[in-house]
Amino acid sequence: MTTPPYDAIVVGARCAGSPTAMLLARKGHRVLVVDKATFPSDTISTHLIHPPGVAALRRWGLLDRLVATGCPPIDTYAFDFGPFTITGSPGTDEAPVSYGPRRTVLDKLLVDAAAEAGVEVREGFTVEDVVLEDGRVTGVRGHDKGGATVTERARVVVGADGLHSKVAQAVKPEQYDEKPPLNASYYTYWSGLPMNGRFEAYIRDDRGLAAWPTNDGLTLVIAGWTYSKFAENRQDIERHYHETLGDAPAFAERVGAAKREERFVGLSVPNYFRKPFGPGWALVGDAGYHKDFITAQGIQDAFRQAEQVADALDQSFAGRRSAEDALGAHQAARDAQAKPMYEFTADLATMHAPPPEMQQLFGAISRTPEASRGFTRVYAGVTSPAEFFAPQNVERILATAGASAGGPGNAS
Ligand SMILES: Cc1cc2nc3c(=O)[nH]c(=O)nc-3n(C[C@H](O)[C@H](O)[C@H](O)COP(=O)(O)OP(=O)(O)OC[C@H]3O[C@@H](n4cnc5c(N)ncnc54)[C@H](O)[C@@H]3O)c2cc1C
Repeated sequence: MTTPPYDAIVVGARCAGSPTAMLLARKGHRVLVVDKATFPSDTISTHLIHPPGVAALRRWGLLDRLVATGCPPIDTYAFDFGPFTITGSPGTDEAPVSYGPRRTVLDKLLVDAAAEAGVEVREGFTVEDVVLEDGRVTGVRGHDKGGATVTERARVVVGADGLHSKVAQAVKPEQYDEKPPLNASYYTYWSGLPMNGRFEAYIRDDRGLAAWPTNDGLTLVIAGWTYSKFAENRQDIERHYHETLGDAPAFAERVGAAKREERFVGLSVPNYFRKPFGPGWALVGDAGYHKDFITAQGIQDAFRQAEQVADALDQSFAGRRSAEDALGAHQAARDAQAKPMYEFTADLATMHAPPPEMQQLFGAISRTPEASRGFTRVYAGVTSPAEFFAPQNVERILATAGASAGGPGNAS
């Protein structure tokens, strides 16, 4: 058998693909990354990166570059439920703040870092199909813009090609724990809407909104509603967006004094896990695990998976472990880490008012700074919901809040 020219071909060059390619190249492997987009390029996605995602950028030596783009740091998250607000700082020692960089900024930075690491980057290259030989993926077929179809071969093809992954369509991985779309959300950007380092969310029955600062002095404001309203509300997105803002009058007043700078974009998305590997292929990012964006986990999940998959492939290329073993361990780690957040995200994504006992708990959380900080850390993916909502911790929160009942955050 002839040795293929690449160890890995990575399809997709955004949050999952470029870091996977970069990390493999830094370990000395020959990598081609292709994307049908040319960078800088926007995509339909808001872009809050919580502290664990920021920590990954720091580990990779890329955080200073992000900071240099002028993207403002976010140190406080505030969840306004109407009668009470949970406010805290989710930061860690390793990454004390979050950032909300535009995807035009973030993805370009990641593509450039991959190229600097020695990855061959082919932008404007569309993969038409994967090459399958005796049940094993051995390469991809695709074309440059307007060019003829060419075939490229590698030991492994990594599908980092997002929600509509061509690689996943070809290899048909097992899909599990699916959930249907749960809400529909639309966002746009405003100038003259200062956030002073805050992420703010306003949660109401069947709808809600969130806002945070990004590059170029702009603030992103996203409004969403439960999925049953999708068909009706998409007829007039602007009106429904502003009606939702009206649920938070003080915030709506701030938006009223600001200027909308871009069009509304948004959508509704499915939820699933997929087996992320098989003979000659692997999946990272949305291609292998997708969830509603209400908890803004996608970018840091993609970063985490990029590290794990690059490690697993490195072990298998070096002959230290079989690909099946190494990527199987990655799948187990991914699922164990993600499952509690997946369920928490799905609950929030329905946009239904929390049941009374949950409202009572959220009210209690709002009355104690430690629990408030704990909640913001859950949302940020720093602490697992399984740990925070464990019966013992819930009891502790209720007891502490009971002792301080009557304070300013009291829900009753
Ligand atoms: C409305 C919305 C809001 C969101 N908000 C947040 C947020 O605030 N924070 C957060 O962390 N996450 C958020 N997410 C999730 C986040 O966008 C994704 O999880 C993240 O982009 C996944 O990265 P990825 O690299 O796997 O896929 P993508 O970012 O989708 O990148 C896939 C790439 O593959 C390329 N590609 C696809 N097919 C081919 C092909 N055939 N040939 C060549 N190239 C191909 C595409 O051009 C694309 O560049 C949001 C998502 C949505 C939809």
